[in-house]
Amino acid sequence: MSARESQIRSALDKIKAQLKPGVELIVVTKTFPVSDLEILYLLGERHFGENRQSELSKKSEALAKDIHWHFQGGLQSNKLRAIVSVASYIHSLDEIRHAVKISELALELNKRQRCFIQVNLDADELASRESNRSGVDPKEFVAFAESLIALAGIDVVGVMGIAPLNSDPRPGFEILRNLSQELLKMAPKASGISSGMSGDYQIAMEYGATHIRLGSSILGQR
Ligand SMILES: *Cc1c(COP(=O)(O)O)cnc(C)c1O
Repeated sequence: MSARESQIRSALDKIKAQLKPGVELIVVTKTFPVSDLEILYLLGERHFGENRQSELSKKSEALAKDIHWHFQGGLQSNKLRAIVSVASYIHSLDEIRHAVKISELALELNKRQRCFIQVNLDADELASRESNRSGVDPKEFVAFAESLIALAGIDVVGVMGIAPLNSDPRPGFEILRNLSQELLKMAPKASGISSGMSGDYQIAMEYGATHIRLGSSILGQR
C-alpha cells in the first residue's frame, strides 16, 4: 500500500467511525488529483463532490461510471449542460433562472435532476453581501421551493447550507433544520439536509444532516 493510500484510508476510517447511521459521506475531491480519487474508489467510496464544471467533466471522464458526482459550486448558465449531463446531485441551486434551465436540460437528457436548495445561513446580511455568499435568503425560501417543485425536470431532494466561517455554526444549522421542515410540508420526500464540512460535521449531524461534505479532513489541506 502506498503512503498516500494508507494516509487516506486511516483518515476515512476515523471519519466513518463517527458517522451517525444513514448519513451519506460525500468526499469533496475538488483540487485533488485523479490518483486520489482512484484510491478513494478502491477503498469503496462512490460519492464525490466537485465545485467546478471543468474539473468535474475531466474527472468523470477519467473514472468509473458507477460514481455519483455531487456538484456543489457556483452555477453559471453556460456550464449547466455539462453539469447536468454528469451530476447525480446539484447542491448549490439558488436561482430560479438556473433551475428553469436545469429542468429543460434534464428533460432533454431523459433524467430528473436531483437538487438541494442552497440556503444562505449568514445571519449578518451586510457580511453576507460583502462576502458574496450564495444561497437563497431564508425569507424567500418557501416561494423559491414552490417554484422549483413545479419544474418537471427537477427532483427537489432537500436543503443545503454552509455555516458562516469563524462563528458558532449552530444558529445556521437550526435555520436549515427549520426550513427542512417547511420543505417537507411541500415535498414529503425531500428529507435531505446537506450540511457539515470538515470543521463542523459533528455538530451538523446533531442538527439532522443527512449528507456531509468533507474534503480536508480526509484528503488533507488544499
Ligand atoms: C470545499 C467545500 C467543502 C469541503 O470543505 P472541507 O473544509 O475541505 O471539508 C464542502 N462543501 C462545499 C460547498 C465546499 O466548497
